[in-house]
Amino acid sequence: MRTARIANARIVTPDGIVSGDVTFEAPEEAGHSGRILEVGPSTLNADQTFDACGAWLVPGGIDAHVHFGGFGSVPIADGFYRGSRAALAGGTTTVIDFVEPDGEESVPHAIERRRRDAMTSMVDYVFRLVLTENYRMQMEHLPLAERAGIHDFKLFTIYDGETLREDDMRFILGKLADDPHRTFLVHAEDPDQIARLQAEHGDSTDFLELARTRPPECEARMVRMLRHLVDETGARVCVAHSTTAATMDLLEGPVPARGEFVAETCPHYLAFTEDSLKGKGGCLFTMTPPLRDAGNVEALWNKALEGQLILSTDHCPYSLRYKRDATYQTVPCGVDGVWTRMSWLYSEGVASRGMDMRRYVLLTSENAAKFYGLFPRKGAIVPGADADLAVIQDGEWQVRVEDAPDALDYTIWEGNRLRGRVARTYHGGRLAFDGTRVLARPGSGKQIDKTRMEA
Ligand SMILES: [Zn+2]
Repeated sequence: MRTARIANARIVTPDGIVSGDVTFEAPEEAGHSGRILEVGPSTLNADQTFDACGAWLVPGGIDAHVHFGGFGSVPIADGFYRGSRAALAGGTTTVIDFVEPDGEESVPHAIERRRRDAMTSMVDYVFRLVLTENYRMQMEHLPLAERAGIHDFKLFTIYDGETLREDDMRFILGKLADDPHRTFLVHAEDPDQIARLQAEHGDSTDFLELARTRPPECEARMVRMLRHLVDETGARVCVAHSTTAATMDLLEGPVPARGEFVAETCPHYLAFTEDSLKGKGGCLFTMTPPLRDAGNVEALWNKALEGQLILSTDHCPYSLRYKRDATYQTVPCGVDGVWTRMSWLYSEGVASRGMDMRRYVLLTSENAAKFYGLFPRKGAIVPGADADLAVIQDGEWQVRVEDAPDALDYTIWEGNRLRGRVARTYHGGRLAFDGTRVLARPGSGKQIDKTRMEA
């Protein structure tokens, strides 16, 4: 097999930063994924060499929460084709997306539908199954789902048809926690308090009402409940898109005797406050949970700088026309992020706040790889790992929607000047993004089953 080398890089490995080269398999034929052969001083020959000139070399990003289509009556702007292009241009080579049964749709049907959707993917993907209020029926299909490579689950405490109460959660987590491959990503917001506040406030085009009717306590109450359920059941739980100081405090508590309790947050919760919801443009910054005040943002940053969170995007963009023509109760909630995540964290974390590169890698790939059972094939630059690599150079660039490789007609990151750009992305040893163009072929990404990955 052909081999390639990235020379003269500052390589971020699980054991620390190494200056030198990474040599890896560089397969030409489709369907074969190249592995890393050597890290550090090179002893092997390589068929081609790229001189990184001292740039950072990090594992290809893992964005553990994206929506490349797949649910809802309002179309999500990105599917797998556009979304995975944007991911590669942003240094991300693996995503975790969803199989979300629609209403009465069966689990096997939903899996087939999403597998078809993903046929054009240029990044590797894991599917996570949403268990809805029909979970008793859906759980009968678990053996089939697991044969289809699905071992991760999403649970909601809110939304029509998906509201799981404490007893439902206890039942599901209690039944499924025995297999440590299984993880649970939970959207935690108190549906009763939100319904009460929405009724009190009425509907309007004041998008600050989104924040007022979903205050931090709505998240905190559900996260406390989850923390207890981890102790009770020994399940491995990640709080989805967490936004509050209270959630960060709960992560500080005693380590669960069994199971695991971790949290993800998203760049937008670190970058913006609820002030972005003010005025005419407020409709563009709508997602749930909503943006928070500066105190909560600071608490998230403190935890992020310690390297403790999973940084996912919850990438779920909608076209302007759906955002503009809505009230705070009807607006489709979700924003973009998969293109800018790695560059943005380099800019705001590393360049602005002094985050060290080990922690940068924890947030952008390693923590997710470990929690979701993909490590060290993903999220690590070590011999034997997949040759999924991102070269990150110092240098400023400005985000402009007309340059976006995804299907966006606006981005919440418009006009941001980011320090640090993705100069190259390799996926399975192939050059997938050369700093300007996405070179990968549609369909070059594959579904990952963590139970069938040999080390
Ligand atoms: Zn989501």
